[in-house]
Amino acid sequence: MNIDTDQLLSSLLQATGHQIGEKFLQSMAEELAQALGAKIVFVTRALDYPATRVQMLASSQQVLHEFSLRGTPCLLVYDGQPVSIPEGVARTFEAAKDGGCESFVGLPLFSEDNLCIGHLGLFFAAPTVVPEALMHLLQALALRMEAELQRLALETRLESARRQLDFQNHILQMAATHQPLDAVFEHLIRGIESEHPEMRCSLMMPNAQQTHLRLIAAPSLPPSYRNLIDGVEIRLGSYACAAAACSGERVLVEDMAQHPCGGVITALAATEGLGSCWAQPLINGAGQVQGVFSIFQRYPGLPSTSHLALIESVADLSRLVLGHYQMMEALRLKTQKYQLFLRTASDGVVVLDLNGLFVEVSDGFLRQIGVDSRETLNALNKTHVWDWDVSHDEAACRALLAQMSETPVTFETRKRRLDGTLWHAEITASAFLINGQTLIWASSRDITERKRLQAELQWRATTDSLTGLMNRGAFMGIFELEFQRAQRHARPFSVLMLDIDHFKLFNDCHGHHAGDVVLHQIAQTCQAALRAEDIVCRLGGEEFAFLLPETDATGAREVAEKIRLAVAALSIVYSQGEGPTVVLQPRCSVGVATLIGCERNHEELLSRADQALYQAKAAGRNQVGVSVESP
Ligand code: GH3
Ligand code: MG
Ligand code: MG
Repeated sequence: MNIDTDQLLSSLLQATGHQIGEKFLQSMAEELAQALGAKIVFVTRALDYPATRVQMLASSQQVLHEFSLRGTPCLLVYDGQPVSIPEGVARTFEAAKDGGCESFVGLPLFSEDNLCIGHLGLFFAAPTVVPEALMHLLQALALRMEAELQRLALETRLESARRQLDFQNHILQMAATHQPLDAVFEHLIRGIESEHPEMRCSLMMPNAQQTHLRLIAAPSLPPSYRNLIDGVEIRLGSYACAAAACSGERVLVEDMAQHPCGGVITALAATEGLGSCWAQPLINGAGQVQGVFSIFQRYPGLPSTSHLALIESVADLSRLVLGHYQMMEALRLKTQKYQLFLRTASDGVVVLDLNGLFVEVSDGFLRQIGVDSRETLNALNKTHVWDWDVSHDEAACRALLAQMSETPVTFETRKRRLDGTLWHAEITASAFLINGQTLIWASSRDITERKRLQAELQWRATTDSLTGLMNRGAFMGIFELEFQRAQRHARPFSVLMLDIDHFKLFNDCHGHHAGDVVLHQIAQTCQAALRAEDIVCRLGGEEFAFLLPETDATGAREVAEKIRLAVAALSIVYSQGEGPTVVLQPRCSVGVATLIGCERNHEELLSRADQALYQAKAAGRNQVGVSVESP
């Protein structure tokens, strides 16, 4: 090969000098091919690192847009050294034979940081030894091409960074506007796949029990493969996605044809053109696997540095999107539960400001006050808590609200319904701070029925059902307290005991019911004869006892006499059923005991009254007996 290299160099630079970028590379490839009589001159750039696939940037002939370096002489150039194969290329490189190429020369093109990012390749039809001078010329041209390649790489990087940013923004916007999760991920995957045509991607999410993976988006995966992996059990030794979800680690299957699971998956991978699979688990802040992002490459291989960077950035974006959806879902569930609770709870819930104004009222509270809606409440102009409270007026309500803290307090109050009827409420309330404003949360429980039952129980426990008087148990409790009070303050205090004379006769002569009527009438008579502060009870049978606070012996005797006379004055007209009408005229005896101060307890005082009663009976009945120890 006899060439004037200096002249060739200057004519080549003259022909191409005014061009830049891909145009320069294209013109140079064509000029070189013509000047050197080469079959093809071409320039590539690496699509990954270490390079396995390259893109054809310029070529003197229409050839592939991109190709794999595997099995080509170009692979040697990417090791970083010029390569010259003077003959026999067609023997080892199938495509060269088809293209009628016999020899090859290749020069690496480097990045600024000395990585081989492209190459200049020349194929000749005949065996060719490139003279040293020409090699120098090609090296000089390679330097010029390197500058263009670096510029292209920078432009590509800037352009792809801008595109990536736009793309990420779009994805986040979709998430922020609550587009369905599968639609967001489908868009994400389609975006990646259009940038990287050699890839097909999928996103899977675990079920709530974290036992199986469900396919969320895999728009380009063949249906047969989708069916195979959808619902796969999360465990080691399974498909890459399942193993990644189980271990929480990235799982790389370099060659799907050699997949450890074998069988269906290797067969499918072969027919569907799935070369390798890289599964990246997406783990949230709590260390939980939220999903698995998988990349299926058309060719077998492990991820390059740029692939790993892509996986990391997609994982970050996916985590962000999944985190957002999980938060939204949790919030939706919480709100739903809260609303359901407020709508259906029989308790009422209100939120008040510190001026007692209803900020929120639940349906339950509206039901409690008999109002159909918040609008009605507003129309009634009864929007303050005191408008519905009977026990607390405005001042009392304000005072209560001002005392509220974060610690809930519970108290009872009476409230009014719209129709004017009253109800008992148990309120539990506490203060909370929201957006710098203190509000009061209060729940109201209708305890009207509970109060009624309590009162009934209390009445039953303390009242004698036949006479309506206090029963023995309740009486003894009060008696003890009154006794202690009188003794402590040295106040006069007397006790009476009353027993109906020959009461048995009423039962015997006119029936048990007649006896009951007499008991009832005498109870009424006794009650009517007393002052408000006096207390009477039915001790049992036909015996009654009286507490007379602030009453000395003289006073007590007078009261006893008054009662005896009132009973003696009774004429009870009685008839039962068809039976004859009779007049019952009961009599009674009364015993009086007055506190002298040396009694050990109230029972001692009562027993003295009992003794006095016994004396009255012994003395002939229908009279008052007085305890001898009385002053
Ligand atoms: P005394 O003058 O000595 O007190 O004679 P008495 O008959 O009143 O006394 P006694 O203790 O012998 O009889 C009391 C009777 O009161 C006996 C009992 O059957 C009757 N009795 C007790 N509780 C009731 C009651 O709730 N209803 C009726 N109808 N009778 C009662
Ligand atoms: Mg008796
Ligand atoms: Mg009696």
